[in-house]
Amino acid sequence: MTALDELATAGVRQITPYQPGRPAEEVAAEFGIGNPIKLASNENPLGASPLAVNALRHQNNLARYPDGNGTALKAKLAQRHGVDSSCITLGNGSNDILEFVARAFVNLGDEVIFSEHAFAVYPLATLAVGGAPVVTPALDWGYDLDAILAAVTDRTRVIFIANPNNPTGTWVGREALKKFLDALPDHIVTVIDEAYAEYVEQPDYPDCTQWIADYDKLLVTRTFSKIYGLAGLRVGYGVSTPELADFLNRVRQPFNVNSMGLAAAAAALDDVSHIHASRSANWEGMAFIEDACHQRGLGYIPSVGNFIAINFGHPAEDLFQSMMERGVIVRPLANYGMPDHLRVTIGSAGENARFLHVLDEAIASCD
Ligand SMILES: *Cc1c(COP(=O)(O)O)cnc(C)c1O
Repeated sequence: MTALDELATAGVRQITPYQPGRPAEEVAAEFGIGNPIKLASNENPLGASPLAVNALRHQNNLARYPDGNGTALKAKLAQRHGVDSSCITLGNGSNDILEFVARAFVNLGDEVIFSEHAFAVYPLATLAVGGAPVVTPALDWGYDLDAILAAVTDRTRVIFIANPNNPTGTWVGREALKKFLDALPDHIVTVIDEAYAEYVEQPDYPDCTQWIADYDKLLVTRTFSKIYGLAGLRVGYGVSTPELADFLNRVRQPFNVNSMGLAAAAAALDDVSHIHASRSANWEGMAFIEDACHQRGLGYIPSVGNFIAINFGHPAEDLFQSMMERGVIVRPLANYGMPDHLRVTIGSAGENARFLHVLDEAIASCD
């Protein structure tokens, strides 16, 4: 009998499937906990924008295919970023866009560079198309752009940079990133993954959607899964030159974004007060958690996103388990090469308080 392992492509054989945060319902059932909270997937604790929810209520032509071009949403996004609609590529989550890049530009054996402790989807997208992942060392948990430059070869086709990075929350400033892009040779498509951009308040943080006129091989990705609170609907997008977008669209499923997602995303973009409320709640919650870390002598990586990686100084798997059994689901990071850290999404004030309470109990029980 032929083993499936022999039939799968060489790249796919090397893939370790992505491990999503465990759903609260599943944890509730397993541990008999009434109302577990999930702080494991960087979702918005305020939920979706009321405008988006309202738009969904009016979306009733489910028998029809969605607009395969996403014309209305693209027009809004184009206006938002001051670019032409032809610069926007819509994705079923920005995850979709990351896969388009690999499919469109990475030949068998081509090298794809990303950093240690970077987002887990980059190796998945690379291996699925037979690309060769090149992982560069991190610097103080963040990106070492010089190390990435040094790793570039004639075979490099794509570089993935998450800014800010998940799961570390580190970020790269304007000058450093510009200098990096300027130093790259011409045969590389660079992806700047800005999934958390809307949270960042640092003045030196670059909105790279504004750079596409200067870099013809730059693709910037954004998502409705994080600050917009629409993770369940799966909508993301890319901003690039129309020429680059054309190649991405060649490998895109004709109807990759569904009609509910298109409607809700367009409405969410207009909900400025929801976005402001989400951002300020996040920074309040972040300050609360950072303060609690200081009080407990726990290290953490300063984060500009809606999550924080806390360093326990020893493998944190037991703590993760113990917290889960007490109804608080956070994210272990061993598969990101960070076994001593747990990543915690900033929740609502109540969730953050409960997280701390359970953390203290778990620390006491694991001693
Ligand atoms: C959450 C996240 C995404 C977004 O994923 P979607 O497919 O848009 O839900 C992309 N990149 C990073 C770094 C993320 O953390």
